[in-house]
Amino acid sequence: MSTNDFLAEWDRDNFFHPSTHLAQHARGETPTKVIKTASGVYIEDRDGNRLLDAFAGLYCVNAGYGRKEITDAIAQQAGELAYYHSYVGHGTEASITLAKMILDRAPANMSKVYFGLGGSDANETNVKLIWYYNNILGRPTKKKIISRWRGYHGSGLVTGSLTGLELFHKKFDLPVEQVIHTEAPYYFRRENLDQSESEFVAHCVAELESLIEREGADNIAAFIGEPVLGTGGIVPPPEGYWAAIQAVLKKHDILLIADEVVTGFGRLGTMFGSEHYGFEADIITIAKGLTSAYAPLSGSIVSDKVWKVLEQGTDENGPIGHGWTYSAHPICAAAGVANLKLIDDLNLIANAGSVGAYLNQSMKSALADHPQVGDIRGEGMLCAVEFVKDRDSRTFYDAADKIGPQVSAALLSQDKVIARAMPQGDIIGFAPPFCLSEQEADKVVAATVRAVKTVLG
Ligand code: PLP
Repeated sequence: MSTNDFLAEWDRDNFFHPSTHLAQHARGETPTKVIKTASGVYIEDRDGNRLLDAFAGLYCVNAGYGRKEITDAIAQQAGELAYYHSYVGHGTEASITLAKMILDRAPANMSKVYFGLGGSDANETNVKLIWYYNNILGRPTKKKIISRWRGYHGSGLVTGSLTGLELFHKKFDLPVEQVIHTEAPYYFRRENLDQSESEFVAHCVAELESLIEREGADNIAAFIGEPVLGTGGIVPPPEGYWAAIQAVLKKHDILLIADEVVTGFGRLGTMFGSEHYGFEADIITIAKGLTSAYAPLSGSIVSDKVWKVLEQGTDENGPIGHGWTYSAHPICAAAGVANLKLIDDLNLIANAGSVGAYLNQSMKSALADHPQVGDIRGEGMLCAVEFVKDRDSRTFYDAADKIGPQVSAALLSQDKVIARAMPQGDIIGFAPPFCLSEQEADKVVAATVRAVKTVLG
C-alpha cells in the first residue's frame, strides 16, 4: 500500500469534512483529494497533478500560493511570540499594526476593528454588537436582521440563518426567528421576464419596504448583504440597487452590514465593494482576503456611529462581554500585515481589476452564443457562467441533472482547471488569485469552452 492508500483509508475512517456528502465519502464513493503544495495560481496533489486553481481555494488565496513574504512573516512571528491574548487591552506589534493598516484602507466613516477567526464568527459578532447597540439606545425590540435569499454569511446558528440557501437551513431548525429574508437582486432569475433592470430594482425595493411594513421598523435592527452575491451564484447587483436599498434603510433607521468577506481587499478591483458600488456601511465584515488565507483571521470593522454607542455601553455596564481566546492571534495578524503589504507592493488590486475584466470579456466572447449558456456575469476577479435548458423561455435544468457539477468535473478531468459548481443552480464560478495572468485566463476560458462542449455539445 502506498502512502496515498493509507491516507485515503484514514480520511474515510476519521475525517468529518465540511460541506461534503458524508455517507458517500465514508463509503469511498467520492475520491479523497490530498493537496500537497502550491505556487502562484497552481496547486499540486500528492499524485503530482498540477491544477490551475481558478477559485483561489474558497475565493480566499488572493495573493496567490507560496508567497514567501507571508510565510516568512508567519515563521518570524511564531518564533518571537506565537501567542498572547488581546483581552483587557493587550495587543502585539502585529495586531496593532494590522488594525491600523485596515483602518487606513477602510471607508472614512469606519472607526475600529474587532478581530475574529473566520467570516462566520465575524458575522456572529456583528449581530451581537447590533443587539447590544440597540439595548444601549433603549430600543429593546429593534433586533431582527434582514438578509437576502441566496446571501451567504456563514454557517453558525445566526449566520447559518442569515445565509439564504436552503441546504444550510434544512434539518438544522434554521433560520432562527430573529432572521428574516428578502428578495435577492438577481436580475437573470427575475420572475417577470418583461421587467427592465430598473423596474427590477424598484421591485426589490418594494419587497423590502413591504417586509419592513409587515414586521415593523421598530423590530428591525439591520440589513446584511454582500456587495456582490457570492456563494448564492456570483451575482453583481443591478444598476442602482445599493443606492435604492440604502435610502430605504436610512429612512427606517436600520443599520447596514456590508459582508465583504469575499469582496474586501480587492476582489472587485477596488479596496472595498461598498465603495465600489457607492454605499456606506455601518459595519463591514472582512476575512478571506485579509490574510489571503495564509492564517485564519477575520474582522468586524465598526463605524464611528456604532463605536460611540459601544463606548457608552461599557461606561454604563462595564467591559464588553464578548471575546475569543484567539482574537487578534499574533501569527494570523503577522500574516495579515505581510499580505496587505504584498498586495500593495505588487499592485495586485489593479491586476485583479484588469485581468478580471479580460477574463470576463474573454468568457463572454467564447460562450455567449452557446444555446445552453443563459448568462455570463462578473465584476473584477469574479466571473460566473449560468446554464439553461432553453434560452428563449429561460427554462432551467432540474437540479438532478447536475449540469453545473458535470461542467466543473469536466474542467478538472480534461484540463486540470478548478472552477466551482455553485451550490444552488447550474452555475460555475471563477474567482482566481489576483496574480492571474492573461495567458492563464486564456487557459481557463479554453478549458471552460471544452468542458461545456463535452457536457452540453
Ligand atoms: N460571508 C461571506 C460573504 C462568505 O463568502 C463566507 C464564506 O464563504 C462567510 C461569510 C463565512 O466565512 P467562513 O467560512 O470563514 O466562516
